[in-house]
Amino acid sequence: MTVPSPPFNKALAESYQAKGLSIGGAWRPASDGTFDVLNPANGHVWAKAPDATREDAEAAIDAASAAQPAWAALPFTERARLLLRVADVLEARRADFVGALTAECGGWIRKSLFETGYTPGVYRAAAAAAYLPSGETMPSDHLKTSIVERQPLGVVSVISPWNVPLLLSSRGMGVALAVGNAIVLKPSEETPVTGGLMIAEVFEEAGFPPGVLNVVTCSRDNVAEVGDELVASPKVGAISFTGSTAVGRSIAGKAGHLLKKACVELGGKDSLIVLDDADLEVAVKSARFGAFFHQGQICMSAEKIIVDRKLEDAFMTKFVAATKELRVGDPTMMENQIGPMINEAQARKVDARLAQARIDGVEFHAGGTREGLYYQPTVITGAAPDMEIFHEEVFGPVANVMFADGEDEAIALANNCRYGLSASVITRDEERGLAVARRIESGMAHVNDTTIYDEPTIPFGGVKSSGLGRHGGRWSVETFTETRWLTVERGGRKTPF
Ligand code: NAD
Repeated sequence: MTVPSPPFNKALAESYQAKGLSIGGAWRPASDGTFDVLNPANGHVWAKAPDATREDAEAAIDAASAAQPAWAALPFTERARLLLRVADVLEARRADFVGALTAECGGWIRKSLFETGYTPGVYRAAAAAAYLPSGETMPSDHLKTSIVERQPLGVVSVISPWNVPLLLSSRGMGVALAVGNAIVLKPSEETPVTGGLMIAEVFEEAGFPPGVLNVVTCSRDNVAEVGDELVASPKVGAISFTGSTAVGRSIAGKAGHLLKKACVELGGKDSLIVLDDADLEVAVKSARFGAFFHQGQICMSAEKIIVDRKLEDAFMTKFVAATKELRVGDPTMMENQIGPMINEAQARKVDARLAQARIDGVEFHAGGTREGLYYQPTVITGAAPDMEIFHEEVFGPVANVMFADGEDEAIALANNCRYGLSASVITRDEERGLAVARRIESGMAHVNDTTIYDEPTIPFGGVKSSGLGRHGGRWSVETFTETRWLTVERGGRKTPF
């Protein structure tokens, strides 16, 4: 196999030395010491990350709040220039991030290459978004000068998950920064380095003003108090959350009570529908990537593969054979598409879902077993709407294939779901594909591709329990700004006294 290009940083793949929390442009120790970050591929302690408490979160919010007015007052072109610089530094440090991502979140090296290739574009799109906020001059009944403007919200708390840490932390804050907000970023306790601390290093190298980005990392033990501060502090104007539906719902609830904006990107149980006229090669390729990329630990994973019954035998023969070709093992090797699950808790969650599915009577065609954190890619059939596996997110390498008599039944199976993030439809007829895609209850849907797809400038987001709000391009500008109305009186308005 060829060496990955660019070669990954082997020293960083071995261990990372954290400098501390990044608050107000300085590195400082956390109040509660450090916590261990494990490499899921081998169980070794890869880093010791600072373990923040509420007090540290307060300090980070204070630093962001102090830095924000000057940041917002900069010419927007200067904010854009700094974001472009972040993209350049990220590219220059790509080998570091590839090494670190593969070690910290157990992703296959090609997933790390994808993530490090994609993320600079998130910052370049954010830089472009700095040019977008525009105002309007309104007609006025009283001949006032009447202006509508967009203004930043102040401090935005960004809380991100572990599965695609560099990209999702960046997506959560790129445009928010571009339009003049300052950030407190709290990455997942599984990926505090690639989701936060290394990003702070990049911002420092890019020359960002101190305090505009602050990073607090903490263990599971401290996340409730740190998370509460990031939502409840009166100095925080909005929350950008990506993660599970359970946590996102509670954060959106708190934010709603406090009348703060919250953009919450949550879990999924996405359907990939294979219509009777589908090209089977496209169907198998899309289903295999959709179900198994990053061990199925993607919010847009194809968790329900709904195949027209006319194609049942042909699809299953090809799909099961293609699944068995996938290689499981050391994620630093290009030839192993399937690496470890993030941790034992996540692997046990998959065990439990599959154990219940077995009791419920599903049939296994491949996989179903694991060695340590390495799960074999698993194919099951026979899941019915009264079973847990039909409804609950698995977040593991499990392809749940079901069969439908025609497109109406396929759409009904897809829509029988509390989630609604992404979807896809495989067909040789693009018009038919779009018509079916329009009937699926999801924020996003793709014809003739897999469910896992994103671009930095599109409105990314879900419906139902998959979230509220949209990330990307001008939709993020709306999310992270407030509309304000300003007038100038010029003597035309009569008051009663
Ligand atoms: P999670 O909800 O456990 O954690 C997400 C973040 O929330 C982490 O930073 C975590 O530390 C933090 N958190 C946990 N408890 C908190 C609390 N009480 N207050 C504040 N913050 C708290 O999710 P996860 O396991 O990291 O990620 C997997 C989930 O994320 C899956 O459900 C997946 O579908 C979803 N996800 C969604 C998207 C999307 O764009 N829709 C993208 C990636 C992942």
